[in-house]
Amino acid sequence: AGAAALSSASKAVPQVSTADLHYLSISEAAELIRNKQLSPLELTQAILDRIDQVEHKVLAFVTVAKVEALEAARSAQEEIIKGHYRGPLHGIPVGVKDTTYTKGIKSTAGSPLLADFIPTYDATVVTQMKAAGAILVGKTRLPAFSMGGDTPSHNPWDLSRTPGGSSGGSAVAVATEMAAASLGSDTGGSVRQPAALCGVVGLKPTYGRVSRYGLLAFASSLDQIGPLTRTVTDAARMLAVIAGPDPSDSTTSDEPIPNYFKSLTGKLDDLRIGVPRSILIEGVDDKVLQAFDKALETLSSLGVKIREIELPHAQYAIPTYYLIATAEASSNLARYDGVRYTSRVDLDPKVASLSLMYEKTRAQGFGAEVKRRIMLGTYALSAGYYDAYYLKAQQVRTLIKSDYDAAFKEVDSILMPTSPTPAFPLGKRAHDPLEMYLADVFTVSANLAGLPAISVPCGFTSDRLPTGLQ
Ligand code: GLN
Repeated sequence: AGAAALSSASKAVPQVSTADLHYLSISEAAELIRNKQLSPLELTQAILDRIDQVEHKVLAFVTVAKVEALEAARSAQEEIIKGHYRGPLHGIPVGVKDTTYTKGIKSTAGSPLLADFIPTYDATVVTQMKAAGAILVGKTRLPAFSMGGDTPSHNPWDLSRTPGGSSGGSAVAVATEMAAASLGSDTGGSVRQPAALCGVVGLKPTYGRVSRYGLLAFASSLDQIGPLTRTVTDAARMLAVIAGPDPSDSTTSDEPIPNYFKSLTGKLDDLRIGVPRSILIEGVDDKVLQAFDKALETLSSLGVKIREIELPHAQYAIPTYYLIATAEASSNLARYDGVRYTSRVDLDPKVASLSLMYEKTRAQGFGAEVKRRIMLGTYALSAGYYDAYYLKAQQVRTLIKSDYDAAFKEVDSILMPTSPTPAFPLGKRAHDPLEMYLADVFTVSANLAGLPAISVPCGFTSDRLPTGLQ
């Protein structure tokens, strides 16, 4: 309804009723806001009303920042009235994953250990979004410390299923129109996989493209922040704001930022796409494969040249990722010890000791999955095992990257499904970590190789669940 009403928007007074405002994409809303046909306050109020109606069913947010959002919307409105229009994100309501620091607003990383943590500064991406005029409406849910593919939220297409993870709350908020867009973080697929399972767009930028200052670190050589949106153009709008070097994050790149809008239109005949068919056989749901093959047919009817490619080391991506990610996580999570960070378990002074305090704090604060990863990672890094596991994984990582380097000599991009299955029932994989890890088969190698990757909607399965094309 929102989109239909908008087709006349640029010509005349828009026909959008306030009840429809939450449907607007960034691009649609921005056009109206720029023309002063819609105020940031109206839009933000509509989104907050939508949250009131929908949030209790899907649980996308840890915190809804109602007061702050309305205040920011009011000042955006004043600026625009005064003629100071900041650009396409001005007055646009967005959600941010709860691993990302927001000054004065709780940032829990989904963990009871950080339940009361209120950062004293904004992450660089949050600073950038605010400078562009975006309105932060809330902090979105995730499994603790971004570990796992199941967020404690509900998939809007089937409430008994998972929205995926770890940026599941961000995907749900966008899919249910409780935010025009959101930010997530992607260490092994956490932006793309929930985007696919919820039917929205999720982009993991190239390693180093976006600052991670103020992002709670999971695996530092893999983590990237990326947008979740309802359209690819909106993803470009978000990336255009958050890309670029940051003196506070020495891993950011100072490569010039391309014009992301240039490549959104134009002919496809020159495009060469590679499909690694041999890795799409085992463990991939038939319905997912059908949707994928249909997308290939469509692309080929548009003139895209599709050819088979080989990624000979792709079969090692999961074990490689789960050694490197857990090793880095075991180091990054050492700081949550009840002294430097996190709430602390109080002990009886008669028995209290420093090591007992560490032990109790961490034993109570971390859940089973986080403990499993800390143990795996610590083991992979320990003397005597380092060469066999961590070092070997780093070597295989290089081979995985060289597979891609070779493939990109022949094709412009590589296509695969984002997730091997559609959304699975909530909690189903909680007791089967290996099954959960295998769901990352198509997403982790982009992080290992530092490559950009995007998941876009790829139609529905016969039981009406969305699938994603990466
Ligand atoms: N599912 C992957 C994991 O559990 C990815 C997580 C992520 O990207 N944050 O490690």
